[in-house]
Amino acid sequence: MIRAGLIRRSSSGMYSLLPLALRSLDKIERIIDFEMTSIGAQKLSLSILLSASTWKQTGRWKSAGSELFRLKDRKGSEYCLAPTHEEEITQLVGHEIASYRQLPLRLYQIGKKYRDEMRPRYGLLRGREFIMKDLYTFDTSEEAALRTYEEVLIAYKNIFNKIGVPFVIADADSGNIGGTKSHEFHFLSQVGEDMILTCSNCGYSANEERAYGSLPLTKQAGNGVNKKPIFNFGISKNNRLIICILGSGYVLNVFKLKAAASENSFEDIQIVNDIKDIQINNNFNEIDIYIDITFQTNLPDLELFLSNKLFDENIYKLIQSNKHIITMHHGDFHNTSPGDGCPICSMSSVSHNNPLIGHNAIEVGHTFLLGTKYSEPLKATFAPETPQNMGELRPIQMGCYGIGISRMLAAIIESSYDEHGIIWPSSVAPYRVCIIPNSDEPLIQQATRNLFDLLTSISHELNGEVLIDDRTNLSLGYRIKDSELVGYPWMMILGKRFLESGRVEIHERRTRKILDVNFDEIKNIFL
Ligand code: ATP
Ligand code: MG
Ligand code: MG
Ligand code: MG
Repeated sequence: MIRAGLIRRSSSGMYSLLPLALRSLDKIERIIDFEMTSIGAQKLSLSILLSASTWKQTGRWKSAGSELFRLKDRKGSEYCLAPTHEEEITQLVGHEIASYRQLPLRLYQIGKKYRDEMRPRYGLLRGREFIMKDLYTFDTSEEAALRTYEEVLIAYKNIFNKIGVPFVIADADSGNIGGTKSHEFHFLSQVGEDMILTCSNCGYSANEERAYGSLPLTKQAGNGVNKKPIFNFGISKNNRLIICILGSGYVLNVFKLKAAASENSFEDIQIVNDIKDIQINNNFNEIDIYIDITFQTNLPDLELFLSNKLFDENIYKLIQSNKHIITMHHGDFHNTSPGDGCPICSMSSVSHNNPLIGHNAIEVGHTFLLGTKYSEPLKATFAPETPQNMGELRPIQMGCYGIGISRMLAAIIESSYDEHGIIWPSSVAPYRVCIIPNSDEPLIQQATRNLFDLLTSISHELNGEVLIDDRTNLSLGYRIKDSELVGYPWMMILGKRFLESGRVEIHERRTRKILDVNFDEIKNIFL
C-alpha cells in the first residue's frame, strides 16, 4: 500500500490515508451505507473522546486493560479514545427511549477507533487508529433482537458480496444458549492472524478456538500444542463465576461443555454445574477479571487451580471458598492437529470425523447479539407494551455489528494481488480505468479527451472513474508498471499503435489480457 501510494506511516500503527486509498474507502463506505439504509439503520456520529464514567459502570474501564488509550483533561477527569462505542450509544439511546413505542431502533456510524494494540502490524490490518463501521440495534424482546440479528447478517452478506472478495462466515457455535450469537466475517489470507477451520463436508466454519471449543471433550483431550489458551475464567460484576472459552473475545458455550462433560463422564467438569449461579456473560471482553486456564480432564476430585497468577486476591479467595478446584494446564485440552473432526458431522450418524481444514484468515467483520449486557448496567430501559407489574421497565435487547473498514481495504489487497501489484475488484478500485497517453502529441491528446468522453458516456458507472495519467514526462513503461502496481481494473494505452491504426491497447488487470480495439468496440467491454 505504501509503494502504490495509498498510505504513509505517521507513527507505529498510525497511517495517513492518501487520495487513492480514500477513494476506495469511500466506495466501501457507500456500499455499507446502502445496505445499512436498506435495513432501516440511521447514520449518526458519536464522540471519539469518551468520559470514563460509563466505562466504569460496565466494568470495561478495568477489563479493557492496556488496549484502552486513556487520558485526563486539565481538571483531572478521566477519558478514553473510543475503541468501540457500546457504552456511549447505550447511554445515548437510554436517555431518548422511554417506551416500547420508540423501538426498534437501528443506529450506525462510520468513524475512527483507537486501540493500543500490543502488536500493530501489516499497516492498516492492525492499526492503533482504524476506521470501523459500527451498528447498534435496540429491540423490545430477545426474539425481536434475534430477528434483527438475522436481518443484519443478510445485509452483511450483501455488503461482502458486493465488494466481491471471497469471504468466510465463521460461526461461533450452533445451539447457543440464551440466544447469544456471534459470527465473524473473514477473508482468507496467509498473513491473517486468525485461523479458520472449515469442514469440506457440511461447510461448517469456525474460528480456531471456537471450533475446538465446540468439539466433544474426548476429541479435545490430548497433548496438542496450544498456541493460545482456549479457556478463560473470571468473576462477573455480581461475583459469579464464569468459565468461558476464548474465541476472539467472546464466550462460547459453557452449557455445551457441561453436556459434553456428562456424556463423557468427565466428573471433574461437573464443577460447572455445581456452582449454582454460573452466569454466561455475553461478551468476554467485559468481564472484570480473567485468567487463562485450561482443564485437566482426568481428576477424580474437582479442584480449581489457577495456572496463572491471580490479578486480585479477593477473587482467589472467592474461588477457593467455592471449594471446587479444577486443575488446568495450557494444552491439556486443546489438540491443534487437523486430526480433529468436524463437530457438526461428528454429531450426525451418517458421516463423522470429517477433518477440519485450517486456513489463515483476516477478521473483517464481527456481529454479536448482546442481550442486556450494556442496557442493564447503563439503565437503558423502556416501558413494555404489556407490563407484568405497575411501572415495570425492561432493559433494551441489543446487538452490535462491526466492520473494520480500513482493515478491509488492506485485507482486500491481501487477498487480491500478484507480482505486479494490487488487483482491485472493480467495486472498490480507486479508479476503474486509467488512460495512459504516451506523449504530448496533439493527436494523442485529442484522442485521450475523446476516449475519456466516450468512456464516461458509455455508462454512468464510469462517471468519475476514469483517470488520465498525463505524466508524459515519465516513460510509458514506467507508467504502465505504476498502473499495474496500483491495480486499476482497466488500463488503456494511446500510443504508436493508435497513431498507426486508430486502435487502443486495453489491458485487463486481473487476467493481464491485452485487447486491441477501435473506439467503437470499447463500449462492448463495459456494457
Ligand atoms: P482482532 O481479533 O483482529 O483483534 P477484534 O475481535 O478485537 O479484532 P472487534 O472488537 O470485533 O475486533 O472489532 C470489529 C472489527 O474492527 C473487527 O472485525 C476488525 O475488522 C476491526 N478491527 C479491530 N481491531 C482493529 C485494528 N487494530 N485495526 C484495524 N481494524 C481492526
Ligand atoms: Mg482485538
Ligand atoms: Mg477478533
Ligand atoms: Mg472481533
